[in-house]
Amino acid sequence: MSHDLPGKHRMRLAVLTSGGDSAGMNAAVRAVVKAGIVKGWETYVVREGYEGLVRGNSVKISQHSPTKSVTTVPKSVQHNALVHNLRFGDGELLRSGEGDAAERSGGKNLKGRYIIRVGWDDVRGWMGEGGTLIGTARSAAFRTPEGRLTAAHNLIKEGIDALCVCGGDGSLTGADVFRAEWPSLVDQLRTKGEITEAQATAYAHLKIVGLVGSIDNDMCMTDMTIGAPTALQRICEAIDNINSTASSHSRAFVVEVMGRHCGWLALVAGVSAGADFIFIPERPPLGDPWEDEMCDAIGLASCSHRKEGKRKTIVIVAEGAHDAALKPIKAEYIKTVLTERLGLDTRVTQLGHVQRGGRPCAWDRILPTLQGVEAIKALMESTPETPSYMIGINQNKVIRVSLQEAVKMTKAVTTAIEARDWDKAMSLRDPEFAETLEGFSITSELGHNGYLPEEKRLRIAIIHMGAPAGGMNAATRAAVRYCLRKGHTPLAIHNGFKGLLDDHITELSWLSVDGWMARGGSELGTNRALPDIDLGGVAAKFQKHQFDAFFMIGGFEAFTSLLTLEAARQHYPSFHIPLVHLPATISNNVPVTDYSLGCDTSLNALVDACDAIKQSASASRNRVFVVETQGGKCGYIATMGALATGAVIVYTPEVGINLDMLRNDVHFLRNRYNLDQKGKAEGRLVLRNESASSVYTTDVITKILKEEGASLFDSRSASLGHTLQGGVPSPLDRARAVRLSLKAMEFIEKYAEQINKLPSTKRKAPRESAAVLTSQGSQIVATPVQDMVQHADMTNRRGIKTWWEGFQALAERMGGRSELAEES
Ligand code: ATP
Repeated sequence: MSHDLPGKHRMRLAVLTSGGDSAGMNAAVRAVVKAGIVKGWETYVVREGYEGLVRGNSVKISQHSPTKSVTTVPKSVQHNALVHNLRFGDGELLRSGEGDAAERSGGKNLKGRYIIRVGWDDVRGWMGEGGTLIGTARSAAFRTPEGRLTAAHNLIKEGIDALCVCGGDGSLTGADVFRAEWPSLVDQLRTKGEITEAQATAYAHLKIVGLVGSIDNDMCMTDMTIGAPTALQRICEAIDNINSTASSHSRAFVVEVMGRHCGWLALVAGVSAGADFIFIPERPPLGDPWEDEMCDAIGLASCSHRKEGKRKTIVIVAEGAHDAALKPIKAEYIKTVLTERLGLDTRVTQLGHVQRGGRPCAWDRILPTLQGVEAIKALMESTPETPSYMIGINQNKVIRVSLQEAVKMTKAVTTAIEARDWDKAMSLRDPEFAETLEGFSITSELGHNGYLPEEKRLRIAIIHMGAPAGGMNAATRAAVRYCLRKGHTPLAIHNGFKGLLDDHITELSWLSVDGWMARGGSELGTNRALPDIDLGGVAAKFQKHQFDAFFMIGGFEAFTSLLTLEAARQHYPSFHIPLVHLPATISNNVPVTDYSLGCDTSLNALVDACDAIKQSASASRNRVFVVETQGGKCGYIATMGALATGAVIVYTPEVGINLDMLRNDVHFLRNRYNLDQKGKAEGRLVLRNESASSVYTTDVITKILKEEGASLFDSRSASLGHTLQGGVPSPLDRARAVRLSLKAMEFIEKYAEQINKLPSTKRKAPRESAAVLTSQGSQIVATPVQDMVQHADMTNRRGIKTWWEGFQALAERMGGRSELAEES
């Protein structure tokens, strides 16, 4: 759809990145550019953030024609948006970082030009690059009214109608100021004669939208900012590495992480890496003095970590941390306290800019892609009457919120902190923040003062089921630590239901699970045996070991086991206890839940593998790699993997594969390779779920593409297999594991109390007491297993409805698939 204005050029959109760089900014620019082109717009990037807007283009070049003449593609596709906006030649300059080079072979450089036309292929391959390829800056000039006037003039001179700003709270505040001032800026320019009356009328309204690119996750009204998951990953990788040396030398480490006004990184890293103590701005330690509180927890009190036998200590401090009187708490001072009062050999590690850098993790590719597409929709619908939007994510849905409101609320957090109103500061963060903090306390603190009265203490059995998934061990650790705080007995069943029948059950201690946050696989051992291998035997073991609750961590097998156990309650009294299932499977095929533990780890493993494959595919000649993913009959991993890797075609079991599809895909690839620059090898990815078709296997598709690619492109296959289970679980999986596991414990206590009120001869568990803990948006809902059945496709072992439906088409659209599939 074209959006030409009457008597005016085609709609022009510019995108800039501003403030501190963050992983995922390139994916955001790529998505905005591609989605803009699909809508028929001309797309521009502004180099060096707002500074580029102020500097504008002092050097004029004729840049509005593509460098590629289209000769080999069929007529039917020659005039579509992608072909028309294919390449303007500056993408490579931006990527090579030679934008300001005075001379460049070939004669073209970007010196003196900050607002640059880009096409579809100029942003190709940007998804996997860290930082921002278009540059960012902190612009003092843009903070001044004169600077913003010049910026407005430059935008109008270049004919830009719409602006997308990707940056942190400062950058979006700048965007909000610019939006509010725009009419007066246009008026001033008109009065000064800098622009014509016609221009003043045509540009009376600037469409502006914000994407939150910030590693701190400090913006309100969105659950996650672009770059925060990757920064968290960098921090956890570093702490995982520090753990081994800390343990070897029995040392303490104080790790300083970024976050001036927001403790999200310190908090979630604290939970995910299993730290001993954390300092965040929103909730300073309230002990008076806090030094006592920290030393008690780590080494002084009788139930401190060191007295329990820990050989290492990790303290995480956000750079903006302070005490309850707002006095900054610095890493060096914490070190002094630990050294002098506890006699610990203590080191400080400042992670600094390491946190910003590097390749984006899967979520930092998916989120900016979804949000970039939404930004374009918001700009299309923007009128002088609609507010300017910030694109966020809430309850797992990409949303638009008022830019002004979001900026206001974010400022309110800083004000609340300055006013020492910690409850308010916490309440302005999303609800998960408070839950994560509680999770940190529960899983890190030792002590018996939380013990429940004797009659409420339970014997809680924990079992792993099905294939291993990242986060299973983290969930178990959280459950064990919760149990021990409350006086419950955590009973680990080793090796699934077979182990239960063999009485392979042990009690776990606080220390024995200490290192489990970072461990992949299943420490308890897992297999696919279901309880119906010997239901009577299983019931007898429940009775023998006096289980008061049964906690299953696993995938579809655990779900079906729960169904079996619940149905068998009518025959076996020992099953009249709370039965709860925490979904953990890389396939993410448990119905109703948005996420299962392990699927984030798996997507990261897929992204790592595909980045390497793509590099190889592009190294020597044009090559299409058909990459097979696991996932059973569920296309989650393949679909989200395609969004994260920029795969151009994705085959899923939900949609299947047929001959017409394959024919179209061959046409698409031929058209696409015909458009590529000659002499430059390009690799492309096709993702195929292992069960997408029993006839059109990965091998068959690879051969078809090889045959049909002829001299244009070659084809190879790769099967990712079990590598998708990932090694070390991702921080998001670990943090989710803790949150879900603690919800499971809450659920168990609630229903155990209800059931145990009844005399033992009449004990009957209510149907709600057999449930799956489902993630629904930001809520965790215990869904009775009986209610799950109506949402399950039991034959295909997956949910009937999925929230990622439609993303397959989106992934392919971002690969240009829908534009170029016509027959030649
Ligand atoms: P990070 O979260 O990484 O710090 P940020 O976007 O918050 O990123 P800032 O340095 O605060 O980074 O802001 C980036 C730029 O946004 C500033 O250099 C300035 O050009 C612009 N900006 C910030 N606040 C304002 C404001 N109040 N008015 C105009 N422009 C502003």
